[in-house]
Amino acid sequence: MNTVRSLLDDEWYERYKRISRLNIRSSIYDVTDRCNLRCKGCFFFSSDEHKAAREEKDPARWVEFIERERERGVNLAILIGGEPTLYMDRIEAFYKRLPTYCATNGQIKVPRDRFPDMMVGISLWGDPETEKKLRGRDTFAVSSKNYAGDPYTYYLYTITPRQLGRLGEVVKRIDDVGLKVHMQLLSNDEGVDGFSWTEAQLAQVRDEMDAALERYPRSVISSRYYHEVLTTRIMMGRRFGWQECPSVTEPMDTRSPQPRRLIRFIRWAADLKTMHRCCTSATRDCTTCMDGAAHMSWVMVNKREHLRSTQDLQNWITVYEMFAKLYRFLPW
Ligand code: SF4
Ligand code: SF4
Repeated sequence: MNTVRSLLDDEWYERYKRISRLNIRSSIYDVTDRCNLRCKGCFFFSSDEHKAAREEKDPARWVEFIERERERGVNLAILIGGEPTLYMDRIEAFYKRLPTYCATNGQIKVPRDRFPDMMVGISLWGDPETEKKLRGRDTFAVSSKNYAGDPYTYYLYTITPRQLGRLGEVVKRIDDVGLKVHMQLLSNDEGVDGFSWTEAQLAQVRDEMDAALERYPRSVISSRYYHEVLTTRIMMGRRFGWQECPSVTEPMDTRSPQPRRLIRFIRWAADLKTMHRCCTSATRDCTTCMDGAAHMSWVMVNKREHLRSTQDLQNWITVYEMFAKLYRFLPW
């Protein structure tokens, strides 16, 4: 039987040891139901998750809740929304108690004197034309000014089919302002015409993602294997979907048999009581879900399957390293 040691040379084994020491236990928190944008295809608003619960407004309740989460074993708080930066005090309550990542549209700057090393992920949906169509404005124009050169910020570039042929250009703009970029694919939850993926488009976007990684290795935080799994939705002969998804809220996970999954993962609504089904929306069709983090986690929780060969295990390591970098468990 293959073992990790037997499959890796010394260099890869060191890389493996570095990530095997990490014991990441993440959960996701809706910081607020409000946002300063209304993007077409936003899973939060399109599935009415903003109406699922009334957000807690008492700062003391947020602190108590976060303390309980820490006791539950969470060591990575992923803040989403709505737009978290509308409530800096809530972000600070997390940041003071847990390793914290803040997703944002980048229109309001996280003050670095208050949050010196918090990882910030700015959502970007493409070039100015696409951004205006889907999000009502060119968000990059503002976010790139707010964060240019920031060492703890990256763009989370959600690629749409309309971006084909333009990926390189978008990545270059990010590289030019001295920031990192990670890529995922739009799931088109609101069925916007022309924004659903065909198989041919998925093959093309994979090539373009590979090319961007090769051309901008300093800026693109990614892995070719991640591109493969995300665009084919197949890993080790298995197809991604509800039965395989690792990012289901643990107390709501009634699947049988249970797949390998994120331990203790919960996605909490902003009332601090309600749970959402998974890391995206409960109304999303799992058969077309393109969520990048769910695919990454899917690879990560399935280490044993990747002990088939040296290449498979190295692929697994590259995805784990990518995740660890994106959430500041490893330096870039
Ligand atoms: S900025 Fe984010 S939370 Fe706000 S509407 Fe757009 S996708 Fe949704
Ligand atoms: S919508 Fe995506 S993230 Fe949510 S359960 Fe389905 S596959 Fe998983």
